[in-house]
Amino acid sequence: MAIHDMTAWQLTEQLQARQITAVEAVQACYDRIDTLDGQVKAFLTLTRESALEQARAIDSARAAGEKLPPTAGLPIAHKDGLSTAAVRTTCASRMLDNYVPAYDATVVKRCHDAGMIMLGKTNMDEFAMGSSGENSAFQVTANPWDLTRIPGGSSSGSAAAVAAGEAFVATGSDTGGSIRQPAALCGLIGLKPTYGRVSRYGLIAYGSSLDTVGPLCRDVRDAALIMNVIAGHDPRDATSSDVPVPDYTTGLGADLDGLRAGVVQEILHHDGVDPTVRQTVEQAIEHLSGLGVEIEEIHLPHVEYSQACYGIIAPAEASSNLARLDGVRYGYRTDSEITDIHDLFAKSRAESLGPEVQLRIIRGTYVLSAGQYDAYYMKALKVRTLIKQELESALERHDFLISPTSPVVASSIGEKTENSMVSRAAATCTKPVNLAGLPAINVPCGLVNGLPVGMQVIGRPFDEARLLQVAYAYEQATEWHRAHPEL
Ligand code: GLN
Repeated sequence: MAIHDMTAWQLTEQLQARQITAVEAVQACYDRIDTLDGQVKAFLTLTRESALEQARAIDSARAAGEKLPPTAGLPIAHKDGLSTAAVRTTCASRMLDNYVPAYDATVVKRCHDAGMIMLGKTNMDEFAMGSSGENSAFQVTANPWDLTRIPGGSSSGSAAAVAAGEAFVATGSDTGGSIRQPAALCGLIGLKPTYGRVSRYGLIAYGSSLDTVGPLCRDVRDAALIMNVIAGHDPRDATSSDVPVPDYTTGLGADLDGLRAGVVQEILHHDGVDPTVRQTVEQAIEHLSGLGVEIEEIHLPHVEYSQACYGIIAPAEASSNLARLDGVRYGYRTDSEITDIHDLFAKSRAESLGPEVQLRIIRGTYVLSAGQYDAYYMKALKVRTLIKQELESALERHDFLISPTSPVVASSIGEKTENSMVSRAAATCTKPVNLAGLPAINVPCGLVNGLPVGMQVIGRPFDEARLLQVAYAYEQATEWHRAHPEL
């Protein structure tokens, strides 16, 4: 098997057994990147020298018989919304074109401390606003399954890199679906953890009450491996939780007999869900039933308001978070003539932030303004509570919930789907989970016209281990995780 065809855990076993060196693993990724990334365009920045240097250090430590963490030598790609010390971090925005953070995000640091080797930073929708990767200020990432199609977003480059065999694993962030949806469109495992399970420290904030960081991987064991490294309390993130972290690999293989699952009808039967995608997910649900899961149809009448609710809360928070990008404290500063400091702010922002980002800042400030606050922002918070309660009460009766992750397979680059029935369905698939702060995983469950379809499994707070158990049982009983794009 070629190195780049291995899963992360297969590679770590080979590294531990000294069948493969870290330098070879890193080199295999860069060979792939050199051959393919001109077309895939997953990476914004490569950290070739530091990666090879770290790989050599790990190889000599291993040769000297030092005890190393299980993931030592594993190459990883990080989303460009995560701060990396001394490595350019742009959030795919001209605003941060030359921004070099002074510190690592906690997730980046934990991966580094566990011996993982950063290959580079991946493309995304600007400030994580979007679902296609087309909102990047720098490049459009292609879907490795069909280079004329989008990989999904906003963690576009991370998904494409892992699917293309350019990286073994990657990090993403998920505010409204940005890990799960690209994972679905690229045929990967994508895990959005419970809010607070993984530190947000050093993640450039979008919607702080919704943002989460998690892995995009080739299979379920890989996701467990990465969660073991990145989950857990961080004193630097006031919203991070101190709920104990289990070993996520130990529950893999436990059978599903007697577990109760609720299938969310409002998502599965949303008008925007493509019938072939619906059928594929229905088959996956039947498969779970064959594995002993008790399946029940459930109704969550408020999830259809997720889009409206998210469309107020996320921009409101973004308008505040992005206010620091003013050309003085951070970011691009205009060269144009200016009259005063406000003019400097305005011109710097207008010249460097993309249209989608500007739109959301304007919407956010509007819904927070004195005259509109009660009608929009306050109302949205109430609806959020209803959605949260509805999901939580369903999860009291069921061990997990199921739906499609995306209503459609990857669409063509340039085929704008915003404001369509499809985009409303897409929002209904993923956004309720962020509004409720719950964990959810994308599990590849079939192909339609040669393109991946994903099933979403939603869990109770801090029950990531259950999601991995369910995903693993399904994965082991099927062949979908072995399907790779032919590049
Ligand atoms: N598509 C959603 C948005 O644009 C989700 C983005 C995300 O999860 N970061 O807000």
